[in-house]
Amino acid sequence: MAERYPRLDPGTTFREHLEDGERIFRIYVPCVEGMFKLPPRNWELAQLFDGKRSYADVAEVYSQQTGIHYDEEQVRDFAADLEGVQFWYKTAQEKNNLLMQQSADERKKLAQVKSRWADLSLVSFPAFNPDRFLTWLYGKTKFVFTWWFTLVTVLGFGVTFGIFISHWSEVGRDTIEFYNFSNKTWGDILLLYAVSMVVVAFHETGHAYACKHYGAHVRSMGFALVYLMPAFYTDTTEGVVMATRWQRFVIALAGIWAELIACSVATPIWWGTPPDTAVHDAAYYMMMQTGIMSLVLNWNPLIKLDGYHMLCETLGIADLKENSTAYVSGWVKRHIWRLPVEVPYVPKRRRLGFAVYALLSGAYSYTVLYVVARFAGNVVRNFSPEWGFVPEIGVALLIFRGRIRSLVNFMKFVYLDKREHILGWFTARRTTAMIVGAMVVVLVPMRRESVTGKFILEPARIAMVRATVPGAVSQVFVREGESVAADAPLATLQNLSLESDREAAKTQAVLAAKQAESATIHYQDVGLALKQKEQLAVRSEQLGLRAAELQIDSPMAGTVLTARVKDRTGSYLDEGEELLEIGDLTALRARIYVSEYDLWKVGRRQAAKLQIRGVARVWRAEVASIASNPVEMDPSLHAQADLKGMNPPHYYPVNLVVVNAEGVLRPGMTGVARLYGDRRSLLGLSWESVRSFFGRKIW
Ligand SMILES: [Zn+2]
Repeated sequence: MAERYPRLDPGTTFREHLEDGERIFRIYVPCVEGMFKLPPRNWELAQLFDGKRSYADVAEVYSQQTGIHYDEEQVRDFAADLEGVQFWYKTAQEKNNLLMQQSADERKKLAQVKSRWADLSLVSFPAFNPDRFLTWLYGKTKFVFTWWFTLVTVLGFGVTFGIFISHWSEVGRDTIEFYNFSNKTWGDILLLYAVSMVVVAFHETGHAYACKHYGAHVRSMGFALVYLMPAFYTDTTEGVVMATRWQRFVIALAGIWAELIACSVATPIWWGTPPDTAVHDAAYYMMMQTGIMSLVLNWNPLIKLDGYHMLCETLGIADLKENSTAYVSGWVKRHIWRLPVEVPYVPKRRRLGFAVYALLSGAYSYTVLYVVARFAGNVVRNFSPEWGFVPEIGVALLIFRGRIRSLVNFMKFVYLDKREHILGWFTARRTTAMIVGAMVVVLVPMRRESVTGKFILEPARIAMVRATVPGAVSQVFVREGESVAADAPLATLQNLSLESDREAAKTQAVLAAKQAESATIHYQDVGLALKQKEQLAVRSEQLGLRAAELQIDSPMAGTVLTARVKDRTGSYLDEGEELLEIGDLTALRARIYVSEYDLWKVGRRQAAKLQIRGVARVWRAEVASIASNPVEMDPSLHAQADLKGMNPPHYYPVNLVVVNAEGVLRPGMTGVARLYGDRRSLLGLSWESVRSFFGRKIW
């Protein structure tokens, strides 16, 4: 069988670029939808492969053209290298043959590498070829790239911006409301996805359209999941090959530009239509999707979206993320782990920037992944709070699978490299010391159990002072915050009828006494007169006592808690109506709510610390009482944002008492209390959590 010689894909496009001051050819190979970079010499050589020339022929032609001698063997090696990266043209038939030739093992490896789900930060699905559609669209709407249209567009952006600023209170609040999923039904979320699909499709068409304008083909557009969020993507590789730096910047910008156009159309419609109409709402929906959040997402240069590409083009650094990550990870391996690896060469002036970028973007990616995992957990927690951790850990493992694998590989590498070192270090004495150390760490009770909770301070003892007889307040002797002794007068009431009754009863009693006296002298109805005298005396005394109650005294020593008591002067109090509150502030009570899961850590007379908000001091307190029944928690003390449908644990009120010797603490102050339990060892702690886990989940 005749040997088949490599050839270029007939659809290959290329262009010369300057990268870091060096000439380089970017070559787009359609059959693999990939971009390759070759130095000019190599590209000249590669171009000689047409499938008909043998290696010897290519060597000869190349030597003639360039005057540099190349032999058949060198050419063959060169072709093999390019074959290794799938540079050469393959028909569909050839691709199939190649797959069949590879052993099952290799195929499996290939499949694994290409597994769609290997890296969940970007999962792409098969695409379609939009080139004909784009050619047609471009033919009809070329005017988009004229200066006058751009001017109109920029004016539109200005108007939109103005409306956003002048209606900021509405727009800003609603944006947060819109993206806060807690008040959304599944229907809302579905609609949100549908609208965002339309917006994203429009955005991607923007990129593709710009590619088309600069003469590059767009061979595939498709659907992908970016951090598991649905997204469209556009293969603009040929644009990257064919376009100049400025043109590439425009291609990257075009997506956001398209969205801003959509936003500029929607905003005036929203502004000009009456609220609560379908058009108004639809326009608002569009604004939310294309406005602020789109900018925030797409212009973030830390993830590989448009903002990143624009940053790369602006700096003139290709593959910023890959290169900076490779540099930082190489540097860490070499200088911190002291492994025998090469740190990729990076010019001095770029090193700091690379380090900063790699760290920021790494931290950002992990944060996003963490948030996604948290979100999955929260969704499940809505239905079953106990099992929310399963999807959380599941999603985290799924997402981090690749990273965990490379971490394991890295650890193996470190181990193999350092084995001698490590084994040498483990002498008998050191090993014993290590074991003793480990046991101390595990068994010695070091960590104290603790429970925390928010509280509002209340007086430990409180008395409500009420009118015991009805009357109008004639005088108030105290004001808020004033401290009073026990039995000190607080106020006087006036009750004219009571007072006149008392006066009348007094007079009657005196009269009756006189009558009784005269009756005794004259022996007339002595029994009746004595009885009347007695009755009237009792009545007079009773009325006297009631009249004395018109002066209200303090039932205990304490502080007046009621605001603006003096304002009560002149008002009328019924019997039993409240006048003011006296509280004993020498000790205050802080009530915290402890969940049923933590209640075992709390005991009577247990020590606690109080941190009052805004005061840089810690007060010591002690547990005074623990309620035996759970209660509805005071809504102002809710620690977490409430999730709908979640059944929260039961909370038991625990009262702490803090001595307020200097009188600094006041009722109504808020803060956080921390209750300290026993010290526990690591072993004890883990045993307790295992025990409570099984106790909760299984039994
Ligand atoms: Zn984009």
